[in-house]
Amino acid sequence: MASSPPRIVVAGSANMDLVGLAERLPLPGETILGDDFVMTPGGKGANQAIAAARAGGACTMLGAIGSDAFGVTIKARLNASGVDTECLRTSYGSSGVAVIMVDRAGENSIMVSPGANSTFAGLSAAETAVIAESDVLLCQQEIPGETVLAAAQAAREGGTRMILNAAPARELPPELLEAVDLLVVNEVEAMAITGSERLDMPGLLALVPRVVLTMGGSGSWYADRDGRDERIPAFRVAVADTTAAGDAFTGALAVAWGEGRDLLDAVRWANAAGAACVRKVGASNSLPSRADIDALYYA
Ligand code: ADP
Repeated sequence: MASSPPRIVVAGSANMDLVGLAERLPLPGETILGDDFVMTPGGKGANQAIAAARAGGACTMLGAIGSDAFGVTIKARLNASGVDTECLRTSYGSSGVAVIMVDRAGENSIMVSPGANSTFAGLSAAETAVIAESDVLLCQQEIPGETVLAAAQAAREGGTRMILNAAPARELPPELLEAVDLLVVNEVEAMAITGSERLDMPGLLALVPRVVLTMGGSGSWYADRDGRDERIPAFRVAVADTTAAGDAFTGALAVAWGEGRDLLDAVRWANAAGAACVRKVGASNSLPSRADIDALYYA
């Protein structure tokens, strides 16, 4: 790895995931007794920041946590993973929370309460400066659209590469698309963006210059406006839990691109990160280290 790690800045969400397991999901109005309960910091922003730091990036997180105990835990978890939280805002009120119920068959019901994430509006001078000084900006769509746009424009002005992981899917304004260097989407998000019932790579390339489509166990597909168009197969591993695979993939991709690696090679390395993640049960706790990723990549 290069002597100085690439500077990655994530502008995104941070949540506390409250996961309760039960024999079956309760019906509306019903109370049931559950089994285990697990609490883990999550949210796509925090997960991808942790993924980038573990993959070897010098990562800074921009976003907002609440003034509650969840905020303290989320921040501690980011710091313990090596993520710089100097600019992370604390807003009065609740942190983002995902209440997740999972039954024995693995079926779930999820309610996300955005809390502090919805207060992350506009960018301060310090936040803008962090973006301009970074090699890569990584955003998702669990924070207000105006903030994603402001971050993308700060990246454009600062000469920072911008990766948009358009998850969850929502309408992408033209000003945002103009500032995106690389779009990362899964198949569902890709179809939502182009409004079609099948994958439409030319349709995506009409919107942004470079696209990575993630396809779970089938790997990924890279295409750009220079005419490169390649499927990169997944690494074959024993799958334990696919939660957070996309976050592991995107965080690692940002690091590899920030290191100056060719994008096809960066996607292959990110595939190794996604595969390393699905071998373990869990969410942010199953995000792979650089050594885990390299072990698969060089095997
Ligand atoms: P998302 O969670 O955002 O839908 P995907 O499921 O497409 O994302 O996974 C992201 C990446 O993780 C894939 O492109 C692939 O490289 C890797 N991955 C996901 N599932 C598997 C799997 N079953 N085996 C190997 N790699 C996987």
